[in-house]
Amino acid sequence: MEKQGDAGFIPRQKYEKAAFLFLFLGVPFAFVWDCLVVTPTYYDKTTWVVVAHYASELYIIINILGNFYMAIKLEILRHVQTIFTTQIIPLQKCNACSLKRDHHCIYLGTCVSYFNLRYFIVAVVYIWIGAVYGLIYYLPFYINTTDFSCYTFLQLIAPHVAIFFGYMTSYTLLLSVFLILILAILIFSTFILYEQTTAIIKGQTQWERKHDVKTYNIGFYKNMKQALGEKWYLVWLFPTVVSPLLCDGISFAQT
Ligand SMILES: [Zn+2]
Repeated sequence: MEKQGDAGFIPRQKYEKAAFLFLFLGVPFAFVWDCLVVTPTYYDKTTWVVVAHYASELYIIINILGNFYMAIKLEILRHVQTIFTTQIIPLQKCNACSLKRDHHCIYLGTCVSYFNLRYFIVAVVYIWIGAVYGLIYYLPFYINTTDFSCYTFLQLIAPHVAIFFGYMTSYTLLLSVFLILILAILIFSTFILYEQTTAIIKGQTQWERKHDVKTYNIGFYKNMKQALGEKWYLVWLFPTVVSPLLCDGISFAQT
């Protein structure tokens, strides 16, 4: 097993490092691309609408990257404590024990568990919001810029052939790849949110959800508090909102 648990922020395994960089570089890149390429096609000058648009995008980005940063940081802190203060045999890919472990996230290169679940969930919610917002904003730009028609789909099946015979430019291909990426992110984040919300409202981890374990289902509001902290209704606003967890992550209230 490749060791990842020496408290490094960037994952060591190659495929996790690639996923991590895709996330932490891709999100800011999308914003810069929008500022330089997409938004100028909608507006001739900077109006309050443009400022509101950029502010909305920045708010979404801060919530995605800020919450993911906190999720990694909190798990790393626990790895350090586990590795240096106990003799517990390390488990899973992170080479550390995670309390109430939910799953291992390859994009963060760390486990999602009791202490960082809140940050993970909120970040995924904002990825979903960003994908919807991005699709609504990007689609008209894509259609206008690429002279979109039903043939565009055919060209995307074999883009190298279409480019070779001059039916498609490499710029159109690039714009098409971005559109497919937005759609893929939207579908993937919808799937993750479905898995997470159906588990949280029943007080389950992913393992318990798959095995239909209902031992820790203590009702909707208490389940939300157990997963997201006492201020579960405020954690959606910003990563720095304080929301104390209900217990130590070892003993949990049961049905
Ligand atoms: Zn892990």
